[in-house]
Amino acid sequence: MDYFLYRGNELYAEDVAVAQIAEQYGTPCYVYSQQTLERHWHAVDAAFAKHPHRICYAVKANGNLALLRILAELGAGFDIVSGGELARALAAGADPQKIVFSGVGKTTTEIRQALSAGIGVFNVESLPEIHRINDIAASMNKIAAVAVRINPDINAHTHPYISTGLAHNKFGIDKNDVLAVYKTIQQLPALKAVGMACHIGSQILELSPFAEALSCVLQLVTALKEQNIILQHVDIGGGLGVCYDAETPPSLDDYAATLLNTLQKQAPYPLDLWLEPGRVIVANAAILVSKIEYIKETASKTFAILDAGMTDLVRPALYDAYHKIIAVKKLTQKEIMVDLVGPVCESSDFLGKSRLLAINPGDLIAIRSVGAYGFSMGSRYNARPRCAEVLVYKDKTQLIRRRETIADLLSHEQQQPFVKMQGLGNDFVLLDLDENSEVWSSEKIKQLAHRQTGIGFDQLLMIKKKEDNQFHYKIYNADGGEVEQCGNGARAVALYLTLKNKIDNSKALQLLTCNRLMTVKRVGPQRFKVDMGPPDFSPAAIPLQLPLQDQYEIVLDNKTYRFAALSMGNPHAVLRVEAIDNAPVQTVGKALCLHPSFPKQSNVGFMQIIGKHRLALRVYERGVGETLACGSGACAAAIVAIRDGYCQSPVTVHLMGGELIIHWQGKNEPVWMEGDAQCVYEGAL
Ligand SMILES: *Cc1c(COP(=O)(O)O)cnc(C)c1O
Repeated sequence: MDYFLYRGNELYAEDVAVAQIAEQYGTPCYVYSQQTLERHWHAVDAAFAKHPHRICYAVKANGNLALLRILAELGAGFDIVSGGELARALAAGADPQKIVFSGVGKTTTEIRQALSAGIGVFNVESLPEIHRINDIAASMNKIAAVAVRINPDINAHTHPYISTGLAHNKFGIDKNDVLAVYKTIQQLPALKAVGMACHIGSQILELSPFAEALSCVLQLVTALKEQNIILQHVDIGGGLGVCYDAETPPSLDDYAATLLNTLQKQAPYPLDLWLEPGRVIVANAAILVSKIEYIKETASKTFAILDAGMTDLVRPALYDAYHKIIAVKKLTQKEIMVDLVGPVCESSDFLGKSRLLAINPGDLIAIRSVGAYGFSMGSRYNARPRCAEVLVYKDKTQLIRRRETIADLLSHEQQQPFVKMQGLGNDFVLLDLDENSEVWSSEKIKQLAHRQTGIGFDQLLMIKKKEDNQFHYKIYNADGGEVEQCGNGARAVALYLTLKNKIDNSKALQLLTCNRLMTVKRVGPQRFKVDMGPPDFSPAAIPLQLPLQDQYEIVLDNKTYRFAALSMGNPHAVLRVEAIDNAPVQTVGKALCLHPSFPKQSNVGFMQIIGKHRLALRVYERGVGETLACGSGACAAAIVAIRDGYCQSPVTVHLMGGELIIHWQGKNEPVWMEGDAQCVYEGAL
């Protein structure tokens, strides 16, 4: 029973016309009925009500988060087969304790994720897997609960691709080896056996294979009891079939009665019953709505060519599965016999063969019972974006997965170009937003700035063209925070734009930072002069009192230090020393930087005058420590040296990372900083 019914000649999903959903969300499109889903959940749960049980919905049947959320709220547990499904279940609010992890190929990473999440039990399928889980759990100081999935060698009389309980299948542990495996588990310190599981296949239409499988499990549980190994639950898996065409699957009540009878007769002691149904819960809760693009007549057949294909629903192509197909609007015209096929370049791309339908090009059709193994088995073959999924509840619709775009298809292969540059010992990574680079989040900056695990850089520069010779320029430190000004970075940007022929170097380049316009001029092949703006001798960031012949004084550890202070876009304190090698950069530099007189902290420069046009400099940089190269620090030192009469413009400043030449004509004239830049490497990620 479901909620996809005609009202008059119009197909409805609950209280909404399917044609209206197609109009709003486009086709192809999966349409789910929440009331149908809930009804099926309750039917399964109610059938087992009189026995302690747990229902772990098999996420692989349909992992849409909105559907998982509905089931989690109804109290469902989840059967997962991958780390991806684990993430889905957790994202949907699943109780980790109610998660069962099945599957033959659990990776180390997946096992670790599952243990971290605290899942209920691993259904284990081989000895090597058992040892792997034990080792990982031991290394994490945890005990992993396990249930052995047995292979009962039972024929469930279903399609060979979906039968799993035969001896020649890859699944489970041979029933003859099961006792030895439990003994091994008993000896492994980080494992605890709590149950025994099986899962014999899917779309099973008879009860006897389930009874046989459970009976086999219970015989093994009985044998274990004789070895003093006691379990808490048996897990019969999923697999109950549904009606797609004219099948008559057992009712849920008969299914429950068969299992509970078997349990009552053969269980050696009280055992909880766990189930992992997938299909029986979701299959009938969805239709796939598709538009007929063409009707194509050939000598032998008529084809209705749909906008949905095997990429949206692969079951017909994969298992020759049958799905009912109905018209969204019933027409009174004559029915025609058609094969309904998709646009994909495969002859197996069909959704229904030899169907009688009254249809025309442009009409909508609905493919029924596609909730299980429909969307979840879809693909992007032929570069087809995955279709939309819509949930209906009474008269409300909700988009629960947006239709993929062409951009989604390309996104995993697109390269993010970057350029690594250098300026005076500083490493920069430059992102040109006009060349497909994307804006990096501060998280990503931090990660990629790392010298061992990332690209390694001091600052990230992002540029975007505004107009000819004018670019937006943003600067981020390695910790992801944005900064106001970086003169070394500006030269790197200018070199990059020169090498890429993006600017006219006969004119000045203008860079718009977050607080001002910087001008950059080329003065050599790789050499640039940057306008750093005028110095500010009484900046708000340095609210010190008592200027003493333009010098400030601070007492640290009973010693008096005199220094000049100014701002070059950021605050600087400059101390003159006699011998640069002995300058107390780590002690006094750090103490001054953090001194309460500088509410925003200050960079601290130690300069030694070498001649009329030359000085040496070491800088303690706020937030960084001693640095190889600080462009604004070089400007600050040279300006103090010129102002106080030690030097004359231009001043060559020697820093550990290299040399800069500072030009300043005094007073409110701008400071020009001249130096080299280098392009180190061009890459993409
Ligand atoms: C696929 C699967 C299920 C669900 O099967 P359905 O036929 O959808 O009920 C349950 N358990 C395991 C281990 C599975 O692989």
